[in-house]
Amino acid sequence: MRTLLSAALATSTFGILLIAQPPLVPGGGGKAKAGATVEKIRTLKPNLYMITGGGANTLVRVTPEGILVVDTKNPGDDNYMRLLEEIRTVSNLPVKWVVNTQHHPDHVGTNQKFIEAGATVYAVEQLAKFMASDPRTKDIPGRPQQTFANDITLRTPGVQATARFFGPGHSGGDTIVYFPSEKIVMIGDQMSDTTPIVDFANGGSLKTWNASLDGALAMDFEFAIPGRGEPKTRVEVQAFRGKIATLVQRATDAAKSGATTFATDDLGWQFQPAAITSMIAEMK
Ligand SMILES: [Zn+2]
Repeated sequence: MRTLLSAALATSTFGILLIAQPPLVPGGGGKAKAGATVEKIRTLKPNLYMITGGGANTLVRVTPEGILVVDTKNPGDDNYMRLLEEIRTVSNLPVKWVVNTQHHPDHVGTNQKFIEAGATVYAVEQLAKFMASDPRTKDIPGRPQQTFANDITLRTPGVQATARFFGPGHSGGDTIVYFPSEKIVMIGDQMSDTTPIVDFANGGSLKTWNASLDGALAMDFEFAIPGRGEPKTRVEVQAFRGKIATLVQRATDAAKSGATTFATDDLGWQFQPAAITSMIAEMK
């Protein structure tokens, strides 16, 4: 395990921050499509915040030595400006660390802006590789500057955050980020409210998908934060894991029997025929 930062101070106290309560419904006047723009920052725990909209969910951890940001939304100056505007409502400290949970544009889009402002971007090696080769991301500036093979831990006084790679799932480089003191885990696109996507072209795997969810479920957490949508309970993560396991079983059965498709309607998921074909092919 490598360490992002080990500070000499043994103890710390956090200042009390006055935070506006999150809105119950997205703002924006209803003109833009829901989730298209960066929403108001919401408090998950003291000094740990979530910002939805403008791409994938972003987590913000304020530490006495600077701010950690997990995922940087879709590319675009407006997304960066709005993101920073929301961060500035809770802290004026510099954003020192950025971690990406996976390489798709909605997670890495404004990395470069954070780098220009002095942050260092961390990611698992595979994420950096797929970001560089995926046609959707290869021209997005702001590649991870520091990569790790399996996990990396941020330690500042009183704060710990660990990013851990459990194997391919949604893509080949998905990372789980755990905040043990807050009992919050960022599971990213390893869980979704809609039909899950296995990005086979970029190292994704249905077969090993649940290794990430099992890794997350082995952690002591109150809420799991998906790449999109609202925080999930342990029961919800377990239910999603069960559905993925069913999908694995059906794809495996189809591969064995020579079937070219299988049903997923009862799971509430509608896959494109090509996705079904790829899932069966992976099990052969
Ligand atoms: Zn994704």
